Amino acid sequence: MVLDREDDLALINALDLGANDVIAVGFNAEEAALRLAGMLARKRLTDRLSRSVEAGLNAAVTDPLTGLYNRRYALPKLARMARHADATGGDFAVMVADLDHFKSVNDKYGHATGDVVLAEVARRLRDTLSAGDLIARIGGEEFLIVMQKATPQTASAMAHKLRDAVRCTPVFMRARDIRIPVTISIGITLGSELPEGDRKTTSQLACGCPASMLIDMADKALYGAKACGRDNVTMTCPAA
Ligand code: GH3
Ligand code: MG
Ligand code: MG
Repeated sequence: MVLDREDDLALINALDLGANDVIAVGFNAEEAALRLAGMLARKRLTDRLSRSVEAGLNAAVTDPLTGLYNRRYALPKLARMARHADATGGDFAVMVADLDHFKSVNDKYGHATGDVVLAEVARRLRDTLSAGDLIARIGGEEFLIVMQKATPQTASAMAHKLRDAVRCTPVFMRARDIRIPVTISIGITLGSELPEGDRKTTSQLACGCPASMLIDMADKALYGAKACGRDNVTMTCPAA
């Protein structure tokens, strides 16, 4: 800011309001240029630092293989989505999707090819979901999906769509000119399936404990889908 030489109150106000520097009327141009150069250098440094902090924070919550969120991000996010559904009266669906017989893909084609398959499956799942839904890689070949504003019907329809997106076309490995067929199984539970007492906890905590319970419930449904022969979708039964 450029101020009158004698105006001490304006000087104090300017600094209080966040002025980076103050110079008096009639200033020397060379001095002003030096002050501005110093300010610009400090600004570039803080911009660089905040970009690297942001990149570090993103890396901490991102799975490097698939680019999806990781477990560290997903659990508290699920707890927040549960709280939001509680507050607004809507329901939501929690799904765990797991690749079928993925070990044999690794055994047959190698771990590196398995990685490419995993990344392609992740891409298909993410592209099939709506923008507000959450998808994260929460285990080796396991994905967590949280669908907002879900009913048993819409959740089941979405899970079948996800399953079809994976099974419809084998994963093409251009470098080796091979096509690898893969399928997934999906277990679904609805947020409203969480027992009343635990739903209350959902409203109070951000630690993700109720989120773990919901994932366990979807996991149990997943066992059912695996037991039914895989390439399948199963939902937890509504509580009596
Ligand atoms: P199921 O249908 O019962 O789920 O059988 P599965 O073979 O998929 O399950 P299992 O738990 O026996 O094996 C999981 C396999 O996933 C074994 C492990 O090597 C593989 N896996 C886990 N993480 C990765 C990864 O990051 N990359 C690759 N290529 N493989 C992975
Ligand atoms: Mg598996
Ligand atoms: Mg698994």
